[in-house]
Amino acid sequence: MWSTWLVGEHLSSLISPILPTPSRHSSVAVCNSDLSYGSVSLFNGNTLVKERERESVAVTDPRDGRRVALKKLPNVFQSLISSKRVFRELKMLQFFKHENVLSALDILQPPHLDFFNEIYVITELLQSDLHKIIVSPQHLSSDHIKVFLYQILRGLKYLHSAKILHRDIKPSNLLVNSNCVLKICDFGLARVQEPDEKKAMTQEVVTQYYRSPEILMGAKHYTTAIDVWSVGCIFGELLGRRILFQAQSPVQQLELITDLLGTPKPEDMRGACDEARSHMVRQRLKLPSLSALYSLSNQATHEAVHLLCRMLVFDPDKRISVVDALNHPYLDEGRLRYHSCMCKCCFTTTNSMRQFNVDLEPVASRPFQDGWEKKLTNIDQVKEEMHKFISDQLNNSNRVPLCINPQSAAFKSFASSTVAHPSELPPSQQHWD
Ligand SMILES: [Zn+2]
Repeated sequence: MWSTWLVGEHLSSLISPILPTPSRHSSVAVCNSDLSYGSVSLFNGNTLVKERERESVAVTDPRDGRRVALKKLPNVFQSLISSKRVFRELKMLQFFKHENVLSALDILQPPHLDFFNEIYVITELLQSDLHKIIVSPQHLSSDHIKVFLYQILRGLKYLHSAKILHRDIKPSNLLVNSNCVLKICDFGLARVQEPDEKKAMTQEVVTQYYRSPEILMGAKHYTTAIDVWSVGCIFGELLGRRILFQAQSPVQQLELITDLLGTPKPEDMRGACDEARSHMVRQRLKLPSLSALYSLSNQATHEAVHLLCRMLVFDPDKRISVVDALNHPYLDEGRLRYHSCMCKCCFTTTNSMRQFNVDLEPVASRPFQDGWEKKLTNIDQVKEEMHKFISDQLNNSNRVPLCINPQSAAFKSFASSTVAHPSELPPSQQHWD
């Protein structure tokens, strides 16, 4: 009986049953919503940063009373590109099985294909994110920084082992709960690595402050090293409590990077487009000033700066990999802390001994496949395939399916936010030619 799910719930529940039909699912469940959502304004230095409107709300899963996040995947069927991108994100959310990577717990039951326009996914609920923590007055000890950085790299090692580039690693895409467990989220820009160096990849990726020099210089092909650059920027931001390279334009972004790293050697700009390279050559010669990193804070110890300098390397081929970064001594304490009391992979025995897992930083069991994308050539086809994919997931699950309650007061504002805000999109690329 689905009505049993209604006990204790308000009439304004955001998620409610579709009227029971004589299908194989005799019941559907209702979720209650109470968390506020919408845009949050934060003062960061002198700049008012309008955080993007998060298209998710906190709800209670009536099947087990657990608090979860309900996320809407936006702009699903606007264009072939956007619909394929959403389908990819959905498949990734279903694919991920890692403590430091956000994954889908459930997908809401879609309406009939004719009315299928939105997709709702249920994920774990985390109260905060690294951006909010960095701009908050809360003290961050070096233990905090180490355990955050360890988890970012641990999650990224898993993604890179699945051959996935995240392409938008930034503090607000790193969710954090009250126990400091961190999960990488938002796979809207993620894609599978391109093994063919001759194939052009889009440069409209990564929020500008975290964008690597090769993308800023118009490289047509890039690798997992772009995510490592972003992590380096975040590491510097955790140490200094301010954005490391906060420029107004892509060209100025490059200026700030070279102020710190010095003018790159010609061989360090191999992937750059000709125009960007000649721009760089025309600039005055700069010497590296990496010792400035010690002044970020008193937590910028020799070990911290050593690792940071290995991440902030101009040439992506010389930049440290995630696997090597995890083996840096700076992260030993973060690893120990994480696996002593925060992880789910190790356990404590009855005589209070901690039993550590043999593999503390697991990789994906297989690469994420994207061959199916090439077969999809029009929006209707994507829509049909996506509908089938979701229905198959639900049919293979033994849980009661959930659906949205359009009568709910929260639904109107939640459902109307279908258009991506300009601030949500990465700033446009510098056109060098
Ligand atoms: Zn563990």
